[in-house]
Amino acid sequence: MTAAHARHDPSSIPDLRAVLRGQVIAPDDAAYDRARSVFYGGIDRRPAVIVRPTDASDVSQVVLLARETGLELAVRSGGHSLAGHSTTDGGIVLDLADMRALAVDPERRTAWAQTGLTAGAYTTAAGAYGLATGFGDTGSVGIGGITLGGGIGYLVRKHGLTIDDLLAAEVVTADGRLLHVDADRHPDLFWAIRGGGGNFAVATRFQFRLHPVSTIVGGLLVLPATPEAIDGFLALADAAPEELSTIANVMPAPPLPFVPAERHGRLVIMATLAYAGDVEAGQRVVAPFRALAAPIADLLRPMPYPEIYPPEEEGYHPTAVGHNMFVDAIDRARAEAIVEHLQASTAPLAVAQLRVLGGAMARVPADATAFAHRTSRLMAHVAAVYQRPEEAAEHRAWVDRLAAALRDGDARAYVNFLADEGAARIREAYPGPTRERLAAIKARYDPTNLFRLNQNIPPTKGAADGEGERRRR
Ligand SMILES: Cc1cc2nc3c(=O)[nH]c(=O)nc-3n(C[C@H](O)[C@H](O)[C@H](O)COP(=O)(O)OP(=O)(O)OC[C@H]3O[C@@H](n4cnc5c(N)ncnc54)[C@H](O)[C@@H]3O)c2cc1C
Repeated sequence: MTAAHARHDPSSIPDLRAVLRGQVIAPDDAAYDRARSVFYGGIDRRPAVIVRPTDASDVSQVVLLARETGLELAVRSGGHSLAGHSTTDGGIVLDLADMRALAVDPERRTAWAQTGLTAGAYTTAAGAYGLATGFGDTGSVGIGGITLGGGIGYLVRKHGLTIDDLLAAEVVTADGRLLHVDADRHPDLFWAIRGGGGNFAVATRFQFRLHPVSTIVGGLLVLPATPEAIDGFLALADAAPEELSTIANVMPAPPLPFVPAERHGRLVIMATLAYAGDVEAGQRVVAPFRALAAPIADLLRPMPYPEIYPPEEEGYHPTAVGHNMFVDAIDRARAEAIVEHLQASTAPLAVAQLRVLGGAMARVPADATAFAHRTSRLMAHVAAVYQRPEEAAEHRAWVDRLAAALRDGDARAYVNFLADEGAARIREAYPGPTRERLAAIKARYDPTNLFRLNQNIPPTKGAADGEGERRRR
């Protein structure tokens, strides 16, 4: 703890303002209501203070403040936590939104990025060099949360998960130290932050590998959602060269200008395709998808990669229930179940999202990072978006029914798509050996579980000496 920090009263906002360089937003500030809001609706918490650090030293001060006061600490990058973990009632929000510096080294094809950047901002800036690192399907997601959980997006089959391009990170640990972690320095911590989420430290900067990705063949393809078309789509996506990654949302057609009015509200496959490779080859690869059924809309075209993130609606704060799973197949019977259940849903918006995986993601050994579900063929996510809180139970039951119809017996989930679903679901994200190793590393770096507002991995009792980790190395 620094002398400056020790002197001030942690509950005093003026004292905090005197110590920190960044913004300190208190409940009586005009900016408070906007600053406390997060992406998901239905989450209405009132933090004691929201701090927007400008550098790692501020971050360290805030971590020490949380430690000293015992106040709950919410760490926020893009604010898209499905579990509401990026805010707190009565605690401290450490919001990294003002830490958005990006330094691209086009020669070495690497970039140092502060963790307040969004996936969209990073992708646009790197795109100016014809380079990219893969994140997810949404530009407003923060690189902090998505990277620490794994990162599954439009380059997953070609270049792997986001963490497969993470070369190093700067992190502030629970004792306020700023550490540089990579394959050689603190390799245990570097292993843990690649999939283990925000359990271990606050990440202030990431160093990523960049790939040459300039013009892709991609965009939106809207097809009628029949079981045959779903089945056919997944078979094509699975057989396609790994340059192609796809995300298929089976859902009622939204009233978008390019969807004919008579289709609005009827079930469609809203698919985004991204072929990161030669343009002519890409055109050939996407052609059979167009031929699965007469497309309702076909926006596939050669385009600059950053356009994969279209502008987003301001002020969109959906309230949703969902269930995420990795599975090895969506066969014809499951495709039929998807259509039947979606037709039966009473939610204003219900969706089954299907992502065919494989390729580069699957080639990394399961124990190389804290993301173990490498060889799963598909990720499925079922969700219902609704408006009135009293509808929640009904939509929850619907989600559970469809999820049960799709799940394999061997339960596996992606940590970044978990809501507040309890310890059993966290165990589905971290199978036995991964969980044990994470818990031992947690005991070394955060023995008091200061970083607990996350998909939490409690520290192994008595493992703080890291004996298990040392034996492993
Ligand atoms: C609309 C939407 C689309 C999505 N699409 C995808 C997708 O295509 N692929 C995919 O892989 N995921 C996707 N996700 C899931 C997303 O990766 C997670 O919700 C992720 O945690 C969001 O990161 P964030 O920084 O925006 O969220 P935040 O709420 O800010 O952070 C989430 C959690 O991550 C931790 N955290 C964040 N930043 C830091 C940091 N710098 N240091 C330490 N801990 C930190 C904290 O525990 C925090 O509670 C999507 C989510 C949404 C809402």
